[in-house]
Amino acid sequence: MTINILHLYPKEMNLYGDHGNILALKRRCEWRGIKTKIIHHEPGDDIPDDIDIIFGGGGQDSGQSKIEKDLQKIAPQLKDYVEHGTPALVICGLYQLFGNYFETSEGQRIEGSHILDIKTIGGPTRLIGNITINTPEFGEVVGYENHSGLTHLGEDIQSFGTVISGSGNNGEDMTEGVKYKNCIGTYLHGPILPKNPRVTDFLILKALENKTGKTQKLQPLNDRIEQRAHKVATTRPR
Ligand code: GLN
Repeated sequence: MTINILHLYPKEMNLYGDHGNILALKRRCEWRGIKTKIIHHEPGDDIPDDIDIIFGGGGQDSGQSKIEKDLQKIAPQLKDYVEHGTPALVICGLYQLFGNYFETSEGQRIEGSHILDIKTIGGPTRLIGNITINTPEFGEVVGYENHSGLTHLGEDIQSFGTVISGSGNNGEDMTEGVKYKNCIGTYLHGPILPKNPRVTDFLILKALENKTGKTQKLQPLNDRIEQRAHKVATTRPR
């Protein structure tokens, strides 16, 4: 069996180790004998109809502008995947653009793909530093954030977690990210997956379950190194 991973805009949207998330997904599949295929999506490419996991990283405002048009074009297909339960992880720049819009601090509006009911407006200062959050599904999750955008969630959408230390969605309401169906949107770079293996395994498990139509159990792995990395990250100063 091969898990097809769609990597959205790896050239423009790839900050603070985001690519490491693809490596983590790939390795944790391989260690269990599951093959993976990474499909890089750049502007102009078509979206295949057999995608099992969607991943998109962060980017500068200028990078977000560059992909805006293409994202509008592929938005209906991405939305369809998410609505049907395809696991997805979108970080910072693409988290914002999976939402309704991102209005930069200069007042430029970059249209989102309206998959997640969130809106983001650039604030006067950047929110930068190590971040730890508490999530109902995965416990403590650690990462690194750097964004000017302040994100507010719509009424019916659930956050990914609650900020323990750091800023999160907007530095005010203590929420971080969103979890909608099997889609996680978050500000956590770092990269997030290597040091939060439960999140990685969630994406892999959902992909397998969707593919087979059956409840699955993942073969446990030795996560000693990942857990140490996680622990070190929680002790870093903000
Ligand atoms: N350009 C966006 C912002 O500053 C996203 C940044 C990022 O992806 N790290 O809010």
